[in-house]
Amino acid sequence: EWAAATTVRRVVLAAPRSFCAGVERAILVVERALELHGPPVYVRKQIVHNTHVVADLSRRGAIFVDDVEEIPPGAVTVFSAHGVSPAVRSSADTRQLATIDATCPLVTKVHSEARRFADHDHTILLIGHAGHEETDGVIGEAPDRIRLVQDVRDAEQVQVDDPLRVSYLVQTTLAVDDLTDIVAVLRSRFPDLVAPPSDDICYATTNRQSAVSEVARECDAMIVVGSANSSNSLRLVEVAERAGTPAYLVDGAGGIDLRWLAGARTVGVSAGASAPPVLVDEVVGALSGLGARTVREHTAVHEDVRFTLPKEVRQ
Ligand code: SF4
Repeated sequence: EWAAATTVRRVVLAAPRSFCAGVERAILVVERALELHGPPVYVRKQIVHNTHVVADLSRRGAIFVDDVEEIPPGAVTVFSAHGVSPAVRSSADTRQLATIDATCPLVTKVHSEARRFADHDHTILLIGHAGHEETDGVIGEAPDRIRLVQDVRDAEQVQVDDPLRVSYLVQTTLAVDDLTDIVAVLRSRFPDLVAPPSDDICYATTNRQSAVSEVARECDAMIVVGSANSSNSLRLVEVAERAGTPAYLVDGAGGIDLRWLAGARTVGVSAGASAPPVLVDEVVGALSGLGARTVREHTAVHEDVRFTLPKEVRQ
């Protein structure tokens, strides 16, 4: 009799949450490639950072690899939503892979900005997280010119070739508040710092973070659905914590630990941009099973972004 034992009475769903346009497009690219060419379709890296999405596509005939060298020559190959460096593209060409690029157009934009700043002989300070596929791909555009800045400390210490030629770029899934702090430090050290032409933190990241920050304020605990390697899901947990609400990342309803909800009456729920909506439904179902009587949605922003598919899989 869990319901009797818990204090949970209300669920507040943060909106927008879950899939963004870039993730929907990337998943559709793999599905269409499977329809058009039949399995196997190779995918370099996880198409999006979600274990359920990857398991589902694997069952349908997608084969996920870490490196294009693992793919048989000539095979149909999808590049993941996070983008690839020019070096990866050229090894794929050498193996004559039939590539379909599922890189999110907003990540592609950061790559073009990197090339443009590099052409102007800038040192490019890439604000992002080390070892993430997106930052690896962008760094590959100009490895000699790009320096990774992960936090305020890096911003205080990073060295540049010419302080008159410095620009910055940003990982699309960064925390909005972290960016503000880091850019402030960089700007005080390099007054001529050039910003990217438009915000690099993508609309989906920004909107999900605003919604979580609003919802967290009225909740006793927050559950974020997403996988442990999903940058934007991890940032949602941080945003909730910054608003003063304990927050927990789960891959699905099975990951909920009842101890997190001890004493909590109102529980907020959100999901990273790579987490499927069905998993959110399951979490809400579990909270209802624990005694939640009302489920309300709090909408911070309305979203209606769509991206066209790559030509290889357009119908
Ligand atoms: Fe594109 Fe933003 Fe979604 Fe990443 S989170 S795939 S950049 S829309």
